[in-house]
Amino acid sequence: MDGNCVFCRIVEGELPARIVDESETTLAFLDANPLARGHTLVIPRDHHERIGDLSPALAADVFDHLYRITTAVADGVGADAVTVGFNDGPAAGQEVPHVHGHVIPRFEGDGGRPIHAVAGSRPALSEDELDNIADRLSESCRS
Ligand code: AMP
Repeated sequence: MDGNCVFCRIVEGELPARIVDESETTLAFLDANPLARGHTLVIPRDHHERIGDLSPALAADVFDHLYRITTAVADGVGADAVTVGFNDGPAAGQEVPHVHGHVIPRFEGDGGRPIHAVAGSRPALSEDELDNIADRLSESCRS
Protein backbone atom coordinates (compact mmCIF):
# COMPACT_ATOMS: atom_id res chain seq x y z
CA MET A 1 0.00 0.00 0.00
CA ASP A 2 1.34 3.39 -1.05
CA GLY A 3 -0.63 6.15 0.70
CA ASN A 4 0.10 8.56 -2.17
CA CYS A 5 -1.26 6.21 -4.83
CA VAL A 6 -4.86 6.80 -5.91
CA PHE A 7 -5.33 3.17 -6.93
CA CYS A 8 -4.00 1.89 -3.59
CA ARG A 9 -6.48 4.22 -1.92
CA ILE A 10 -9.29 2.73 -4.03
CA VAL A 11 -8.16 -0.77 -2.99
CA GLU A 12 -8.25 0.36 0.66
CA GLY A 13 -11.72 1.88 0.25
CA GLU A 14 -10.41 5.37 1.02
CA LEU A 15 -11.47 6.71 -2.40
CA PRO A 16 -14.72 5.88 -4.19
CA ALA A 17 -14.72 3.78 -7.33
CA ARG A 18 -17.29 1.99 -9.46
CA ILE A 19 -15.98 -1.52 -8.88
CA VAL A 20 -17.30 -3.97 -11.45
CA ASP A 21 -15.41 -7.12 -10.53
CA GLU A 22 -12.78 -8.35 -8.12
CA SER A 23 -10.62 -11.28 -7.17
CA GLU A 24 -8.45 -12.00 -4.17
CA THR A 25 -5.49 -10.26 -5.82
CA THR A 26 -7.01 -7.92 -8.43
CA LEU A 27 -9.70 -5.30 -8.87
CA ALA A 28 -11.62 -4.01 -11.89
CA PHE A 29 -13.34 -0.61 -11.81
CA LEU A 30 -14.59 2.03 -14.20
CA ASP A 31 -12.12 4.64 -15.37
CA ALA A 32 -13.05 8.03 -13.89
CA ASN A 33 -12.39 9.78 -17.22
CA PRO A 34 -13.60 7.16 -19.66
CA LEU A 35 -12.45 7.07 -23.27
CA ALA A 36 -15.60 5.10 -24.07
CA ARG A 37 -18.70 3.78 -22.35
CA GLY A 38 -17.53 0.96 -20.09
CA HIS A 39 -13.82 1.91 -20.06
CA THR A 40 -12.55 -0.32 -17.26
CA LEU A 41 -9.23 -0.64 -15.46
CA VAL A 42 -7.82 -3.87 -14.04
CA ILE A 43 -5.20 -3.54 -11.30
CA PRO A 44 -3.32 -5.76 -8.88
CA ARG A 45 -4.38 -4.97 -5.31
CA ASP A 46 -0.73 -4.69 -4.27
CA HIS A 47 1.21 -1.61 -5.30
CA HIS A 48 3.60 -2.25 -8.18
CA GLU A 49 4.58 0.43 -10.65
CA ARG A 50 5.53 -1.48 -13.78
CA ILE A 51 4.51 -4.77 -15.36
CA GLY A 52 8.05 -6.03 -14.85
CA ASP A 53 7.74 -5.41 -11.12
CA LEU A 54 4.94 -8.00 -10.79
CA SER A 55 5.68 -11.51 -9.60
CA PRO A 56 4.91 -14.14 -12.25
CA ALA A 57 1.90 -15.27 -10.19
CA LEU A 58 0.48 -11.76 -9.81
CA ALA A 59 1.09 -10.99 -13.50
CA ALA A 60 -0.85 -14.15 -14.34
CA ASP A 61 -3.69 -13.01 -12.06
CA VAL A 62 -3.87 -9.58 -13.74
CA PHE A 63 -3.85 -11.06 -17.23
CA ASP A 64 -6.35 -13.72 -16.22
CA HIS A 65 -8.67 -11.01 -14.93
CA LEU A 66 -8.32 -9.08 -18.18
CA TYR A 67 -9.05 -12.28 -20.08
CA ARG A 68 -12.15 -12.95 -17.99
CA ILE A 69 -13.72 -9.49 -18.21
CA THR A 70 -12.90 -8.30 -21.72
CA THR A 71 -15.85 -10.04 -23.36
CA ALA A 72 -18.13 -9.27 -20.41
CA VAL A 73 -17.33 -5.55 -20.59
CA ALA A 74 -17.92 -5.51 -24.35
CA ASP A 75 -21.21 -7.38 -23.98
CA GLY A 76 -22.25 -5.13 -21.10
CA VAL A 77 -22.13 -1.98 -23.21
CA GLY A 78 -22.91 -3.55 -26.58
CA ALA A 79 -19.46 -2.85 -28.01
CA ASP A 80 -18.32 -4.12 -31.40
CA ALA A 81 -14.71 -4.60 -30.31
CA VAL A 82 -12.28 -3.86 -27.50
CA THR A 83 -8.85 -2.29 -27.24
CA VAL A 84 -6.85 -3.73 -24.33
CA GLY A 85 -3.57 -2.15 -23.34
CA PHE A 86 -1.10 -0.98 -20.72
CA ASN A 87 0.81 2.27 -20.57
CA ASP A 88 3.90 0.75 -18.97
CA GLY A 89 6.11 3.62 -17.85
CA PRO A 90 5.91 7.42 -18.11
CA ALA A 91 7.43 7.53 -21.61
CA ALA A 92 4.50 5.38 -22.74
CA GLY A 93 2.02 7.76 -21.12
CA GLN A 94 1.56 6.06 -17.75
CA GLU A 95 0.23 8.68 -15.37
CA VAL A 96 -0.81 6.56 -12.39
CA PRO A 97 2.25 4.63 -11.18
CA HIS A 98 0.30 1.51 -10.21
CA VAL A 99 0.06 -1.22 -12.87
CA HIS A 100 -3.28 -1.08 -14.66
CA GLY A 101 -4.66 -2.61 -17.81
CA HIS A 102 -7.16 -0.58 -19.82
CA VAL A 103 -10.21 -2.34 -21.29
CA ILE A 104 -11.65 0.16 -23.76
CA PRO A 105 -14.87 -0.83 -25.55
CA ARG A 106 -14.85 0.11 -29.20
CA PHE A 107 -17.75 0.88 -31.49
CA GLU A 108 -17.99 0.90 -35.28
CA GLY A 109 -17.31 4.47 -36.41
CA ASP A 110 -16.21 5.69 -32.96
CA GLY A 111 -13.42 7.67 -34.60
CA GLY A 112 -10.75 6.00 -32.45
CA ARG A 113 -7.53 4.57 -33.82
CA PRO A 114 -5.91 1.17 -33.60
CA ILE A 115 -3.09 0.47 -31.16
CA HIS A 116 -0.63 1.11 -34.02
CA ALA A 117 -1.38 4.81 -33.56
CA VAL A 118 0.13 5.05 -30.08
CA ALA A 119 3.78 5.19 -31.16
CA GLY A 120 5.45 8.05 -33.01
CA SER A 121 6.54 7.82 -36.62
CA ARG A 122 7.54 4.34 -37.78
CA PRO A 123 11.31 3.81 -37.89
CA ALA A 124 12.76 2.86 -41.27
CA LEU A 125 14.61 -0.39 -40.54
CA SER A 126 16.63 -2.43 -43.00
CA GLU A 127 16.44 -6.24 -43.12
CA ASP A 128 19.84 -6.38 -41.40
CA GLU A 129 18.68 -4.09 -38.63
CA LEU A 130 15.52 -6.19 -38.12
CA ASP A 131 17.66 -9.35 -37.97
CA ASN A 132 19.94 -7.68 -35.45
CA ILE A 133 17.03 -6.51 -33.27
CA ALA A 134 15.43 -9.97 -33.35
CA ASP A 135 18.75 -11.53 -32.26
CA ARG A 136 19.16 -9.05 -29.40
CA LEU A 137 15.59 -9.52 -28.20
CA SER A 138 15.87 -13.28 -28.45
CA GLU A 139 18.99 -13.13 -26.27
CA SER A 140 17.31 -10.73 -23.84
CA CYS A 141 14.23 -12.99 -23.58
CA ARG A 142 16.43 -15.99 -22.74
CA SER A 143 18.45 -14.21 -20.01
P1 AMP B 1 -2.58 5.94 -17.45
O1 AMP B 1 -2.32 7.12 -18.30
O2 AMP B 1 -2.44 4.64 -18.20
O3 AMP B 1 -1.76 5.96 -16.17
O4 AMP B 1 -4.10 5.98 -17.08
C1 AMP B 1 -4.57 6.30 -15.80
C2 AMP B 1 -6.06 6.22 -15.89
O5 AMP B 1 -6.56 6.25 -14.58
C3 AMP B 1 -6.70 7.37 -16.65
O6 AMP B 1 -7.47 6.84 -17.72
C4 AMP B 1 -7.53 8.07 -15.61
O7 AMP B 1 -8.76 8.54 -16.13
C5 AMP B 1 -7.74 6.98 -14.58
N1 AMP B 1 -7.97 7.45 -13.21
C6 AMP B 1 -7.23 8.34 -12.53
N2 AMP B 1 -7.72 8.48 -11.27
C7 AMP B 1 -8.79 7.65 -11.17
C8 AMP B 1 -9.72 7.33 -10.15
N3 AMP B 1 -9.66 7.92 -8.94
N4 AMP B 1 -10.69 6.43 -10.41
C9 AMP B 1 -10.76 5.84 -11.62
N5 AMP B 1 -9.92 6.09 -12.63
C10 AMP B 1 -8.94 6.98 -12.43
